[in-house]
Amino acid sequence: MGVLGISLLQQYRIGRYILEKKLSGEKRYPLVLMLEPLFRCNLACAGCGKIDYPDEILDKRLSVQECLGAVDECGAPVISIPGGEPLLHKEMPEIVAGIIKRKKFIYLCTNALLLSKRIKDYTPSPYFAFSIHLDGNREHHDASVCQEGVFDRAVAAIKLCRERGFRVTVNCTLFQGAKPEDVAKFFDYCMELDIEGITISPGYSYERAPRQDIFLQRATSKRLFRDIFRLGKGHKWRFNQSSLFLDFLAGNQTYQCTPWGNPTRNIFGWQRPCYLFSEGNYAPTFRSLMEETDWAKYGTGNHPKCANCMAHCGYEATAVNDTLDNPLKAFKVFLQGPRLEGPLAAELPVNYPEKPASVSIPIDDLHHKSGEAS
Ligand code: SF4
Ligand code: SF4
Repeated sequence: MGVLGISLLQQYRIGRYILEKKLSGEKRYPLVLMLEPLFRCNLACAGCGKIDYPDEILDKRLSVQECLGAVDECGAPVISIPGGEPLLHKEMPEIVAGIIKRKKFIYLCTNALLLSKRIKDYTPSPYFAFSIHLDGNREHHDASVCQEGVFDRAVAAIKLCRERGFRVTVNCTLFQGAKPEDVAKFFDYCMELDIEGITISPGYSYERAPRQDIFLQRATSKRLFRDIFRLGKGHKWRFNQSSLFLDFLAGNQTYQCTPWGNPTRNIFGWQRPCYLFSEGNYAPTFRSLMEETDWAKYGTGNHPKCANCMAHCGYEATAVNDTLDNPLKAFKVFLQGPRLEGPLAAELPVNYPEKPASVSIPIDDLHHKSGEAS
């Protein structure tokens, strides 16, 4: 467990990029560009905050030039292409080819429904991976995406991609009610599929999502991750994330969000502050996003809407920076896995006066494992 799934080339390039930024004294720099070329999707998942726009918005696309312009403007070494469903974008192969030409690492995030049909438009490359959305085993995933049969089609697509030599990762968001035993079995299954790694994240409480009751509260998330990692001892699960991010999920690190680590460009412009949380506030250029956003307003304890967020797009960049600042600590977690017993790391103080409307602490949570600080 705790083994990084990403290739050595990718680790080397990202490490070099961060060191260069640190040496040049740059305080804020992006690691992953979240490029959303369209919001239209061929699924309608209950936890999705992207698809309930009116048709005229869902019909909009970023052009090839706009996408590659955003890649150049931002300079991040990794490009994640979520959506909507990117495979619905007719020019996606051209966009991917342009990014590969720039030697950036791409994760094309797809629900995989169109993958068998479109796979012929892509060529395997060390710079390119399909990141396939799977939120658990068959029953769980089909319930999560609100359609039967999607899990089986996604698994068939994964097998096809592997046969054709593509890099594949699985993108798994865990929602309230996830059972550690089921998640552990699912991770075992992912390893059997011979994928490169799993990206895990607790679901973020989208303001726009149709259902608000399924998102994990922070302390519940940490306990869930500890339970899952406990079951993973000796199972050699590969994650596409840093060891310290996994340690943070298990409640062992007090991290503040690094929202500029994963800037988002979509059809409206550069979204402030992050991929998950849209205040309807868009910057016209990447530079204006970085320089004119009041970053101190966001993150744990700084904004009520960030209260329960532990998502990788906010906290992975923090963990990666911590890895470079404290390599020995990171190496220890890499070797041993996250600590699974004892108190949870302290939470950051809350700096806003009003109690967040979305946060309620069930009484049994207060009594649960009374030794743990949450
Ligand atoms: S597949 Fe992704 S973009 Fe499409 S509805 Fe589901 S969560 Fe939203
Ligand atoms: S904590 Fe960070 S990543 Fe999460 S919603 Fe707030 S700004 Fe976005």
